[in-house]
Amino acid sequence: MDAAMERTWLGARIELVVGDITRLAVDAIVNAANASLLGGGGVDGAIHRAAGPELLAECRTLGGARTGEVKATGGHRLPARHVFHAVGPVWRGGSGGEDALLASCYREAMRLAAERGVVSIAFPSISTGIYGFPIERAAPIAVREVRRALEAPTTVTRAVFCCFSAPDRAVYERALDAVAGP
Ligand code: ADP
Repeated sequence: MDAAMERTWLGARIELVVGDITRLAVDAIVNAANASLLGGGGVDGAIHRAAGPELLAECRTLGGARTGEVKATGGHRLPARHVFHAVGPVWRGGSGGEDALLASCYREAMRLAAERGVVSIAFPSISTGIYGFPIERAAPIAVREVRRALEAPTTVTRAVFCCFSAPDRAVYERALDAVAGP
């Protein structure tokens, strides 16, 4: 984690970092899962590797999830106490409701966080990897939903956008400046 790359918005309630989400010391991390909730590539694979086989065992009890839905498990061997498994939409050109389904992932994760008394939560860039959602379109949706949730009654005081590359971070930084103010 490069500390010099960190910036905050919305009275320091939103933070932007570049790094591996599995290493973050937050109450909850969000997983960009697939509908099976049984692991996959990208950040999903990294989370399962870091959390250990107990995470997969717990995920097997969940019965999968629909696109836009989020289900919670424990964090097992992760520093985080909770993992919120969000099923983002596969990009199909943008007219299949992808924007609303992506927004639902962030909204539902923030709802679960408040329900469980989570104070700090970190998000990967859901759907913008293997699922092909253009990050320039996804980032403002992510920022808008998280901002909205932070402005409503919630236990969350720290929401982290955890990007995996400097170019992704630059896209989020622009979205945060546009949508979340200073
Ligand atoms: P999806 O299938 O929802 O597109 P991916 O895991 O393929 O999910 O990608 C989502 C984002 O997560 C991408 O920006 C990818 O670079 C990023 N990513 C991959 N591994 C990690 C990690 N360990 N920590 C944070 N972000 C990660």
